[in-house]
Amino acid sequence: MDLLAQVMEDVVKRNPHETEFHQAISEVLESLEIVAKEHPEWVRAGVFNRFVEPERQIIFRVSWIDDAGNTQVNRGYRVQFNSAIGPYKGGLRFHPSVNASILKFLGFEQVLKNSLTGLPMGGAKGGSDFDPKGKSDGEIMRFCQSFMSELYRHIGQFTDVPAGDIGVGRREIGYLFGQYKRLVNDFSGVLTGKGCSWGGSLVRTEATGYGLCYIVEEALHKKNLSFDGARVSISGSGNVSIYAAEKAMQLGARVIAMSDSNGFIHDENGIDLDIMKDIKEVRKGRIREYIEYRQGARYYDGCNGIWKLKCDIALPCATQNEVDLDSAIALIQNGCFAVGEGANMPLTPEALRELIHNGVIYLPGKAANAGGVATSGLEMTQNSQRCSWAFDKVDIKLKCIMTDIFCQIDTVACRYGREGDYEFGANVAGFLKVAKAMLEQGIAY
Ligand code: NDP
Repeated sequence: MDLLAQVMEDVVKRNPHETEFHQAISEVLESLEIVAKEHPEWVRAGVFNRFVEPERQIIFRVSWIDDAGNTQVNRGYRVQFNSAIGPYKGGLRFHPSVNASILKFLGFEQVLKNSLTGLPMGGAKGGSDFDPKGKSDGEIMRFCQSFMSELYRHIGQFTDVPAGDIGVGRREIGYLFGQYKRLVNDFSGVLTGKGCSWGGSLVRTEATGYGLCYIVEEALHKKNLSFDGARVSISGSGNVSIYAAEKAMQLGARVIAMSDSNGFIHDENGIDLDIMKDIKEVRKGRIREYIEYRQGARYYDGCNGIWKLKCDIALPCATQNEVDLDSAIALIQNGCFAVGEGANMPLTPEALRELIHNGVIYLPGKAANAGGVATSGLEMTQNSQRCSWAFDKVDIKLKCIMTDIFCQIDTVACRYGREGDYEFGANVAGFLKVAKAMLEQGIAY
């Protein structure tokens, strides 16, 4: 970094110890250096400095009563990062690891991702350090109601439209929406990921996983490769992982491994997704239970081992920094030719460099997992039009959006002489649209 070194220094100074946020900004600024050289007037107008500073950060207390009658206190957040191209939009994460650094990195990535979808959505992220694991339905409901009792005054269908993320699924969105409606007396599309009978969109559940496979397939086709007949490893067994597995199988792949935060299963004959859905979606169980139902499948403690298995395509779909340098080396040695990020920033910077250096096709999360938010955008459109589209109609639109994202990142990478560097292409293509909007809206913005 050269022109933008000062921008990075300021980020570190202003956000001390926020390592995930530093990591996300640094990866993007590296790509933007060439844009800064091309547009010195943007440097003078402070576009880059403004781009890395959230427009607004809200931190609040969430107190709620557990089943034993004790008062519990958690911390709630909403980071409204950038609204240059539309209302803030991005998920809510409920997980004990949630802190300002993680939400700022996620909010920042969301700005670029939403820009790539071509839909009018700014970027935000929020959540809480609340741990939904082991909580009763009543506890989850009381927590969500308390969380929304503060959040409602900061959001709205034309202001900020949150969605789900880790730990926030259909059930939580329901409780959050119910409380919003109670407080504001307004039935509007203020949240996405809603139930289909009350304003949700078909395909939203499948969207991130399906979208991931659609864009990976585009990149594979460019090299005369495909999912058909490929062995695929997928980390996680949550929303993104399950539907990535489903689409990969529909495209002819054999998914041989999946994981959760305790360990992973290896099923060389191909994972039986009905069993997996029953364990994880219906019974909310642990992945180790899978081997009780499938002969020949193995369970291993620990998450990292999944990347040591021989596979052709790896889809990390669990969490940030889950693939380290050793895992990347093992993937390369075992002949893996493509990595598509279902999760946000699942590769450490060292792992990322190693994969790119070795010519592995790499699709970054901000492009590859944009199908979720894109379908949320389609949910917003349906809410505004007071209609619901059929599954196939939404799925076709999702596929078009993912194809278009691939086209954009590929074209921009080629234009700057970086063919195949989709990380660079996604950073630059996502940034250009937001930067132009920021400039057109004036400096005080
Ligand atoms: P879920 O909560 O549905 O699932 C997360 C899964 O990852 C769970 O199976 C969890 O296991 C597992 N997990 C967590 N930590 C680890 C770890 N260290 N190693 C292995 N597995 C782990 O979340 P989502 O599927 O919704 O989200 C997953 C990722 O995708 C996140 O990075 C999210 O930000 C990103 N994403 C999600 C979108 C969406 O539409 N849902 C959209 C775009 C991005 P356990 O059950 O043990 O907790």
